[in-house]
Amino acid sequence: MNDVKIAVLGSDGVGKSALIVRFLTRRFIGEYASASECIYRKRLSIDGKHMNLEIYDPCSQPCDGRSSLNNQVHWADVFVVVYDISDRSSFTTAKAIVQLIRDLHLGAAKRDGESVVFLVGNKQDLCHVREVDREEGQRLAAEAKCQFYELSAAEHYQEVALLFSKVVRNASLS
Ligand code: GDP
Repeated sequence: MNDVKIAVLGSDGVGKSALIVRFLTRRFIGEYASASECIYRKRLSIDGKHMNLEIYDPCSQPCDGRSSLNNQVHWADVFVVVYDISDRSSFTTAKAIVQLIRDLHLGAAKRDGESVVFLVGNKQDLCHVREVDREEGQRLAAEAKCQFYELSAAEHYQEVALLFSKVVRNASLS
């Protein structure tokens, strides 16, 4: 049985809990009451391999500082860095988090940073009030050698499921 650890990071309110709950339950729930960080656990089977999945959600804990990220980098196998396409400041935070993960990975020489970071532009259903172009997300992902997704936790269950199945595959390879 493989243990797979995923950290989902990003500014408060970008939809981290929404994405995780959507993946785990198929449901989009408008509000998430959890006040402190939590780890969701699930057993699942991918490509015939059984896995114990752990997903870290910082909830309202700040996750953009170097010290808390340092802990996550050492704990997690793979990272999902989320921003909200309708909130430019969340993209700035995502950029900083991606850079910190890369610095800390290289510093710790834990593994090649290439496929362990997934950059996700969430709330694509709000594209009428978009503040971050898709191309900007793609460019950042290309520069930082991340995989890039733009989707909506609210409206795109299939894409959320596809994202997490890729994340789990990459995590189980690392
Ligand atoms: P977190 O703080 O990053 O965990 O964010 P939450 O998951 O608590 O979501 C913050 C708010 O954004 C909530 O009101 C969610 O209903 C809303 N939200 C999350 N994902 C989406 C989405 O894809 N589209 C829209 N329109 N709202 C979303």
